[in-house]
Amino acid sequence: LMSCTVDGVVSALRSVVAVVDEHRDELVTLDREIGDGDHGENLKRGFTAVLSKLDNPGETPAAVLKLVASTLISTVGGAAGPLYGTAFLRASSALGQTPELTPESIVVALQAALDGVVARGKAAVGDKTMVDALTPAVEAAQAASGSVAEVLSAAADAADQGSRDTIPLVARKGRASYLGERSAGHMDPGARSTALLLRAFADAAS
Ligand code: ADP
Ligand code: MG
Ligand code: MG
Repeated sequence: LMSCTVDGVVSALRSVVAVVDEHRDELVTLDREIGDGDHGENLKRGFTAVLSKLDNPGETPAAVLKLVASTLISTVGGAAGPLYGTAFLRASSALGQTPELTPESIVVALQAALDGVVARGKAAVGDKTMVDALTPAVEAAQAASGSVAEVLSAAADAADQGSRDTIPLVARKGRASYLGERSAGHMDPGARSTALLLRAFADAAS
């Protein structure tokens, strides 16, 4: 069981880095279908940079999430960098100085992350973006009861379903929207990476 202090968050982030690494090619392939083929490499570059900073993570869960945010913003580029950066930054702010995560604080942090992504990218549910994975994840986390692991697992399950549900959609935001109707029939890479990240956090917590 993951500790929910800064050490637990750091070890969860190490798992996230490994998952991004494992799924780099898959995300590149998805982004080749409806984008420019760099999503897996963008995230791999960003989380590799995150890994190099985890030896000095700071004192609180919020501090380490803030470090993740600034690292992603400065290394990822593309659409996903600022969006994931904003997500981690808002989650960090929402946690404040709390030394230990609770199921309730996880829900608040996830909601803040979603609000940040929407504020930044202006995508709505159904636009075929990461918002289509993160929105059901927040709803499921709110509805879940139980431990941190249970809340994160409910969020990850919902994000996974949300990412699959992007397949038939026509993209209305981001690069994929340039394809119009031809974007239908492919999973959105950012929705897929959101589902992978949440699964990595959930697995680390269980
Ligand atoms: P780029 O499109 O600049 O190459 P990436 O390939 O890294 O950047 O990321 C693409 C992903 O970013 C998309 O699959 C989508 O999920 C997400 N995305 C793009 N634009 C938006 C937006 N306005 N709001 C939310 N997510 C978006
Ligand atoms: Mg791309
Ligand atoms: Mg790009």
